[in-house]
Amino acid sequence: MPISKKSKIQREHRKAEAAGTRAPVKPNGLPVKAPKPTSICVNCRKEIVNTNLKQLELHAETHDQKVWPKEKCWPKEFPGTAAA
Ligand SMILES: [Zn+2]
Repeated sequence: MPISKKSKIQREHRKAEAAGTRAPVKPNGLPVKAPKPTSICVNCRKEIVNTNLKQLELHAETHDQKVWPKEKCWPKEFPGTAAA
């Protein structure tokens, strides 16, 4: 009996794993992408990708700018520029 496609794939995975070349995959077989770095807004705990500062700025603008300027929402990304 010829081996099934599934066990053939499993065998290939084991081989790649042994060789240390297996890329991480989801249970459905799609490759797992590296997660994007995100920051969490201090004010509303919303998680936003922090590689795009403009996005962080735009998010901060959804809050009351007098009370929550972007420096307060994202102290790590906009340090030291908060008005005292
Ligand atoms: Zn927020």
